[in-house]
Amino acid sequence: MARRHRYTHQRYLEGQDEHHLRQLTLIRDLQDAVSNGELWMAYQPKVNAMTGRVNQCEALMRWRHPSLGFIPPDEFIGLAERSGSIRMLSQWMLANVCAQLHAWKQQGYHLSVAVNLSASDVVDRQLSVHLTSLFERYQLNPAQLSIEVTESAVMHDVDAAMSTLLELNQLGLSIAIDDYGTGYSSLAQIKRLPVSELKIDKSFVLAIDSQKDDLTIVRSTIEMGHSLGLRLVAEGVENRASAELLSKLGCDFLQGYWIAKPMPADELPGWLDNFTPL
Ligand code: C2E
Ligand code: CA
Ligand code: CA
Ligand code: CA
Repeated sequence: MARRHRYTHQRYLEGQDEHHLRQLTLIRDLQDAVSNGELWMAYQPKVNAMTGRVNQCEALMRWRHPSLGFIPPDEFIGLAERSGSIRMLSQWMLANVCAQLHAWKQQGYHLSVAVNLSASDVVDRQLSVHLTSLFERYQLNPAQLSIEVTESAVMHDVDAAMSTLLELNQLGLSIAIDDYGTGYSSLAQIKRLPVSELKIDKSFVLAIDSQKDDLTIVRSTIEMGHSLGLRLVAEGVENRASAELLSKLGCDFLQGYWIAKPMPADELPGWLDNFTPL
């Protein structure tokens, strides 16, 4: 018994070591991921529930590590935040997305893109200056870009975040609260920010067609959000029943695997050409 215990404990420690080693490797290699061309952006369409059409996508970062393969953003974004490389990744991401918007426009696709920002991005005093120069370089209307940010990223340093968000909003960007419902802030607190959209977290949406409680939460979130003048987006829409239910509840935008998975930029025009409005 004692021996077996020692054995499993040993295995546990080895597992911890492996995990730790992987994290250190990823943190180190993230530094060169941009210059080595290992990152790219995937785009996931958002459907306007009123018109059934798509004119917006969310940009999601992808990393293929040369030896470890595909690393999910849920793993590397957190590491980048803690190791200080997130700003470099965000700068690359914003330039890449703006260049893409410019390229799509030249191909005749007039889209807008939502990007995800981290806590350290929303306290970056240079962000709106940086974006302004990107909009000039790529001849974009700032309204073509919108920002998704979680409550926790904003509440981390609410005064600094507030001034950045106000600047972005004055530039013409709209701002959404991501993963809404998983944090602790009230809608009253959120309403003080220059926010126009709430994205209901997918944990409430995934089983909305079978879980009564989830349906109740989503319904009241939509009602409350609308009464405060906010647009509502549901992410994690995985089947037709959920999409129909959400449209009936008055949800403004739908996003999820049932509509499309995130895809490389060059696949989006073909996808849009073949998409039949809902
Ligand atoms: P998020 O912003 O909440 O993005 C939604 C996630 O849900 C994405 O995962 C997306 O692929 C996934 N998803 C979309 N539809 C469905 C569905 O129908 N079912 C299910 N089960 N999942 C769905 P992904 O791409 O792995 O990204 C994970 C998280 O990583 C994002 O969550 C975001 O917090 C972060 N992230 C991704 N790209 C960036 C970025 O460029 N910058 C920052 N700061 N964070 C990013
Ligand atoms: Ca998001
Ligand atoms: Ca989300
Ligand atoms: Ca998330």
